[in-house]
Amino acid sequence: TPRDLAEHLSQLNHKPYGAYQDLLGHHYTFRDFTLVFEKVQKDPFATASQIRVLIQDQVAKFPSDYYFTTDRRTALSDYLTRQLVKQIHALKMDQQFQSQSWHDVKGGNFEMTHPGQQILERNSIIICDGTIEARFTFNLPARGRTIVAQRAIEVLTKQLPVIITRALKFTSHDPQDLQAHIQCYEDQQWLRRELPSQNLIAFVPDGAILPRASGISDQPLTSGNVVPFASPDTLKIKFMCPSGMQITGMGIRPGVTMIAGGGYHGKSTLLESLEQGIYNHIPGDGREFLVCDPTLCKVRSEDGRSIEGIDISVYIDNLPFDMNTKSFSTQDASGSTSMAASIQELVEVGSKVLVYDEDTCATNFMIRDQRMQRIIKKENEPITPLIYKIRSLYEEMGVSSILVIGGCGDYIDVSDTIIEMRSYVPRNITQYAKEIASQYPNDLRQEGGESYGNVAQRTLDIPAYTKGKVIARGGTTIVFDKQEELPLATVTSLIEQGQTRWIGSAIKYLCQKSLTKQNTLKNTLEQLDRMMERDPKISEDSNSSSSSSVQMLESPMDFIEPEYIHGEYVRPTLFQVAQAINRLRGIRVIN
Ligand code: ADP
Ligand code: MG
Repeated sequence: TPRDLAEHLSQLNHKPYGAYQDLLGHHYTFRDFTLVFEKVQKDPFATASQIRVLIQDQVAKFPSDYYFTTDRRTALSDYLTRQLVKQIHALKMDQQFQSQSWHDVKGGNFEMTHPGQQILERNSIIICDGTIEARFTFNLPARGRTIVAQRAIEVLTKQLPVIITRALKFTSHDPQDLQAHIQCYEDQQWLRRELPSQNLIAFVPDGAILPRASGISDQPLTSGNVVPFASPDTLKIKFMCPSGMQITGMGIRPGVTMIAGGGYHGKSTLLESLEQGIYNHIPGDGREFLVCDPTLCKVRSEDGRSIEGIDISVYIDNLPFDMNTKSFSTQDASGSTSMAASIQELVEVGSKVLVYDEDTCATNFMIRDQRMQRIIKKENEPITPLIYKIRSLYEEMGVSSILVIGGCGDYIDVSDTIIEMRSYVPRNITQYAKEIASQYPNDLRQEGGESYGNVAQRTLDIPAYTKGKVIARGGTTIVFDKQEELPLATVTSLIEQGQTRWIGSAIKYLCQKSLTKQNTLKNTLEQLDRMMERDPKISEDSNSSSSSSVQMLESPMDFIEPEYIHGEYVRPTLFQVAQAINRLRGIRVIN
């Protein structure tokens, strides 16, 4: 009971900080919930202590149909995470306001990672079999290195029950707000799954707000003139969502789609929104119901990256000194080789839609115009630009392309659909552009043969340094073993640190278990992904020292780091994991 906890803490008062370890493994049963200390920090400056709070559904009382499907539980878990984050934040504000008496005490506050604009699969709140488990951290309070029990008692026995009630009980919420969150998620899931049956790879709804508040904010743009998305009639599609909502918008078909238009007319904004269409957005984001093929990835120029054993001969052949491009490795790729490698790597693991923005592409990889074809002979140019492969990439490999191109009309000839962005409004200019192209024909010579060429399936060995300590730094960098940095800023749509964390730990797991050596990269990653497809379960073996029968939950994301249960994982896509592994320095092909 809370009184047990208070008594327990009182006994620790004034003791050295290490005595807090005594809390480990005990269950404290409150009126509405159970509190468990999963991990207790060793000193006041260490990572905060990990706690788990379990609340039974008889107490939380959410409508039972919110538990019916995995999608609903995912949306509910995301919603509850946001509510708890809000309550923790409010408590912090309160504490600051009235903390004069505790001004010399460090700690006494909760922390939970803040979700962004996307509804994602998280292990911060787990829902299973009538139990809801919340995972967050608590900084155990101390004056210097001495335990201040009174502060801990006040926060844990008085303030914690308040925030748990406000965050995790159905009656504390606006039922319509919650309903909207779940329905919004379900409709987006449905729309994305519905795309293939409508022969689409992406859908942008009318009325969507695509621009963001700034280059460093994912919030919708609200200041100035914001132009809501409006689809051209000839590309308009209509859906009737499961919630009963009817929605219209622009459909993008498989094949090659070119997004043209003047500078600053909204091309990159549209493409960036399409990249985010692998996710479902929260109500009010502006991009809700914008969905794309879940395998969509962005290809960009990344000079300096490492490449290991990729067959890039489709695009690059005849390098100086007879360098082998059928199994090409480098520690310092050029812009064009990095793009060739990225395409091959993504096709290898099954991406069906690749997107490109001229702002971040290497020109010599995109085009070679008729003059250059005549000035630099083919035998002296290793690169076969994408424009000569983009058709066979689609027709043979089934991989569609969406390209933002404002500067090169050659792509008109290879595009199925051409969209012009003009003052942030799309127009279907396919026919017009094709007419102009036939009036000004190009005398381009086909390069690179008729068929696409080979995409190899690799089996990889992962470098041993990944077995060391794994830290996710700043959201887009993983640091292994305190020194090996893996920058992930170029990984498609990686948005939350929790994803980066999961990827880092997953790489360590794959290395420790030697999993990548036994199977192709594609198969290994599909297995990993299927593990996360499972539902949460009741964990069999908690590190509990007491014999009381509190059942704790296990998220399908936990398995890569079972020795340390925390709530900071967010599920990434298989493609993001693949992109991370491919950028690890020191991977080796072993087949
Ligand atoms: P482009 O790639 O065509 O050069 P961008 O997509 O980078 O253009 O957009 C240029 C600017 O216009 C950006 O600051 C962006 O935020 C803003 N913008 C994009 N779409 C809209 C819109 N629908 N309404 C208002 N501003 C927009
Ligand atoms: Mg641009």
